Amino acid sequence: MLYIDIHTHKKVAHSGTIFVRNAYDFLSNDSLLNLGYPISVGTHPWHIGDDFLLENALKYLENTIGLDPVYQIGEIGLDRKRGNFQNQLKYLEGVWEINKKYQKPILLHLVGAEYDIIPWIRKANFPIIWHGFYPKGDLVEKLLVFRGKLMVSLGKKIFLSKEEISAVLRTLPFDMVLCESDNSGIPIEEIYQRISMVLELDSMELKNIIWNNFNKLRKYE
Ligand SMILES: [Zn+2]
Repeated sequence: MLYIDIHTHKKVAHSGTIFVRNAYDFLSNDSLLNLGYPISVGTHPWHIGDDFLLENALKYLENTIGLDPVYQIGEIGLDRKRGNFQNQLKYLEGVWEINKKYQKPILLHLVGAEYDIIPWIRKANFPIIWHGFYPKGDLVEKLLVFRGKLMVSLGKKIFLSKEEISAVLRTLPFDMVLCESDNSGIPIEEIYQRISMVLELDSMELKNIIWNNFNKLRKYE
């Protein structure tokens, strides 16, 4: 069974891994088609500043979203520490509209906007992946209603988790869990190992769970 790395900025050489690489929003359709592996496209919230060209960004998405290698949209999202928050919201609005028809998974980057995103998840008719998830407050509890539509992707932050955070993560249903290396450079097997420790799961069992979750994302309707 293969490892799944649902979000990485690097090309993964490991043949035992299916990975989705972040391609941002500037490669031509030809280049995207020639990469030879699944990708995600979209405008990162850090690249959405005061002079953001919303129409261009949405046009890029419209032109690429239907391409075969475009497995998901992302990372996109909201970041209260970088970029222009109002423009980030306008971009989300546009993406939600375009993706109504395609229903591709959307991978979210969220900083300081963990609660702002809840109405957006509610109205989505497509799967959502919360990238680099780290629980705070009553967030996990609030997100449980989205089981079946929302998955959280655990990555390098899981190495920071203390016992209380681990206990919160263990309240997540297993069918909401994915795994990512992002830009960490940590091999995906090591992140899996750490997750199986935190969730108190046998490593084969975890591999199986994430494999099934990945397949569910692809069959989402
Ligand atoms: Zn990333």
